[in-house]
Amino acid sequence: MSIPSSNVRIVLVNTTHPGNIGAVARAMKNMGLRELYLVDPRIYPSAEATARASGADDVLAGAVVCADLNRAIEDCPLVIGASARPRAIDCPRLSPRECVAMIAERASEGPAAVVFGREHSGLSNAELDRCHFQLAIPVDPDFPSLNLAAAVQVFVYEHFLARAGAGQAPSGEGGAAVPAAEMERFYSHLEQTLIELGFLDPARPRHLMRRLRRLYNRARPDQNEMNILRGILTAVRARGGGRR
Ligand code: SAH
Repeated sequence: MSIPSSNVRIVLVNTTHPGNIGAVARAMKNMGLRELYLVDPRIYPSAEATARASGADDVLAGAVVCADLNRAIEDCPLVIGASARPRAIDCPRLSPRECVAMIAERASEGPAAVVFGREHSGLSNAELDRCHFQLAIPVDPDFPSLNLAAAVQVFVYEHFLARAGAGQAPSGEGGAAVPAAEMERFYSHLEQTLIELGFLDPARPRHLMRRLRRLYNRARPDQNEMNILRGILTAVRARGGGRR
């Protein structure tokens, strides 16, 4: 299965332990990501980083080392800062899954940076102020701080799942979801049928069609499934549609 390419950049700020840098490179390569930026790492390059990369040396070798955070994110229209701690002045907090969805939504705008902080003190408030969103990995609030590489691993895994899913058919054996115009034709067919059945009162429609839209949009039917749904509606209407 081919994974669609990604515009995600992982940025590590002031990392103390080179082993963590290696472990991050490994986690990234496992999940099909390559773009690693290191902002003023304490010790780098380092044999320990290479050892912990365990074969992801190419990701390490390609890492861009920057003197400050500005340089690492200057070309990124979307910047997300990872932090376990809620701050006094919060930017909107997103789960890993929500972050990945946000990144996908804005993919056409340019690279997205996901910024991870120092092992001992995390990201400063000034650094978080540079971010549009905060990535907060759900954890036990009594012990919220993950190891740096573990936090990156959670994010890149979620990112991988979404990309793998995007490259797949929506259901096990189905084809691509039908386009929006086809869904609209289905909804007007459905609405008309429900009116003829007397199930939907056009004078008092309430939220019925909105709820049905939510249901069928979630299912993302492919062309075969759509043909079945339309066939059912046609059969219902051919029988006189009920009370009218
Ligand atoms: N002691 C630091 C945490 C450092 S952990 C603090 O209190 O902030 C190193 C980095 O891993 C953090 O800066 C953050 O980028 C990331 N991280 C760790 N746990 C996280 C979590 N639950 N959610 C989001 N990012 C997390």
